[in-house]
Amino acid sequence: MSEFLEGMMQDDFPLTVHHIRRAMRTRSPESTVKTHVEPGIVESATFSEIYDRIDRLARARRSLGVEQGERIGTFAWNNQRHFELYFAIPCVGAVLHTLNIRLFEEQLTYIANHAEDRVIFVDDSLVPVLERLAPSFQTVEQYVVMGGGDAGGLPNALRYEELLEAAGPGEFEYPEIDERQAAALCYTSGTTGNPKGVLYSHRSISLHSTATLVRDGLGLGRADRVLAVVPMFHANAWGLPHGAALAGADLILPDRFLAAEPLAGLIAAERPTLMGCVPTIFADLLRYADEHPEVDLSSLSNATCGGSAVPRQLMKDFEERHGVNIFQAWGMTETSPVATFSRPLEGEHDDAYWDERAKQGQPLPWVELRIVDDAGGEVAWNGESTGEIEVRGPWIAAGYFRDESAEEKFDSGWLRTGDIAAVDAKGFVQITDRAKDVIKSGGEWISSVELENELMSHPDVVEAAVIAKPDARWAERPLCCVVLRDRCDTGAEALIEHLRPRVAKFWLPDEFAFVSEIPKTSVGKFDKKVLRGLLAEDALDGRVQV
Ligand code: AMP
Repeated sequence: MSEFLEGMMQDDFPLTVHHIRRAMRTRSPESTVKTHVEPGIVESATFSEIYDRIDRLARARRSLGVEQGERIGTFAWNNQRHFELYFAIPCVGAVLHTLNIRLFEEQLTYIANHAEDRVIFVDDSLVPVLERLAPSFQTVEQYVVMGGGDAGGLPNALRYEELLEAAGPGEFEYPEIDERQAAALCYTSGTTGNPKGVLYSHRSISLHSTATLVRDGLGLGRADRVLAVVPMFHANAWGLPHGAALAGADLILPDRFLAAEPLAGLIAAERPTLMGCVPTIFADLLRYADEHPEVDLSSLSNATCGGSAVPRQLMKDFEERHGVNIFQAWGMTETSPVATFSRPLEGEHDDAYWDERAKQGQPLPWVELRIVDDAGGEVAWNGESTGEIEVRGPWIAAGYFRDESAEEKFDSGWLRTGDIAAVDAKGFVQITDRAKDVIKSGGEWISSVELENELMSHPDVVEAAVIAKPDARWAERPLCCVVLRDRCDTGAEALIEHLRPRVAKFWLPDEFAFVSEIPKTSVGKFDKKVLRGLLAEDALDGRVQV
């Protein structure tokens, strides 16, 4: 007779943010968090000092009247105080709700009211934005201003540093926390419909943080110095703050100084080994570095890029011209966010190597994915056949916060990502499109991502976004919106010649729009919805038929 023999391990040990917080003091008290506070001025604090400040902040929860499970908002850049809130709020049992400071005002009102935020911590530099919105927030009773700047017209505004001072020193007795308890809330920045809330648990954050230490993933270690440029309001800055705390790595935070020049200055001065940000920021940085060869960025041996497809040429140019290695990750707010990572086996950097490196990579341990076609069948992993990525695992969302309308996003325990991809026999995922961006021409699919990638490998092209244009004969044809480098007058014909050896003939576009800028979403991705709107209104400038 078979018997269920239970294992005899401490399976009840809770996987909570407490462990990450404690690791800061017990394992790496001397590691630092540095913040670019004013032009050229960087402030530093050790993990040990920060640990004490988190205790103070936790104690201050009484004067703020924060209860278990309550949502506490942050409206802040990447800086030390925001990092402290990342720990203090979940560790007292409340939920850290990182508001995306770049959302439209109506969306911010919607998410603060939907989340029922009770307190909002705000950077003094962002007070003017929040002030305008405050009257529309229905549940916020208290604001806490971080930094010495003006609290403006915010009602019930306390001062962060005064709160800490009043809370006094000493160890805080934290409540016990169930690992399934909610720890953080982040709304998707989707371009359709209202944003949806992804509610991370202590367990999901703990496991995802552990995965940031995996060598074939981000590979964070104690010797790293991590520059987190990806905003702390965008999917927990890809897990970099939690990961750095757990690994004992130094963390460098740029606050509001995100332009290429101050970033390059910060990199040259602080010598980060790892940096995480979206391709548009890396592209700006590359242009700057090309124009200022004296700026040394080569400490970045392990940079990470994602959020949208990372052009192969961008990675190659950085590596060849500046000694910077950029690796690609894929994920979404719903996947905590890192789900796959592309780190091919080291060897000669030939075409085969770059083919792999340009893919979105292999699933991290504990992440499982499958590719599903329109009929709901699983697609073979042959590197060719495409379908929608469905994903499951312990840090993948199982639903949305107080939103049943999104049930169609789930398929028997799998999250439907809306991303179309092929997977090769080694398990490397290659995204060809967002489902809604796919171009269907004469019954065949054209990958906008691949066309964009090939266009952006032309030396005169800074940015390229490809959208579908309705077509009487073919149903849809690609229209390429292109931003050229300053003072370049490369024409449509030259771009077609560049594409000709690189893509199938029927992919060659019939129309270009030479624009000065591609509109971006609140998290820096190409906003194709805006481009499609301009096209529909016949307001897309610089159009040239081929
Ligand atoms: P968000 O929830 O804002 O992080 O957006 C998630 C979406 O960004 C994914 O569903 C993808 O469409 C896109 N994305 C993220 N990383 C990549 C990548 N490396 N390549 C292509 N698309 C990506």
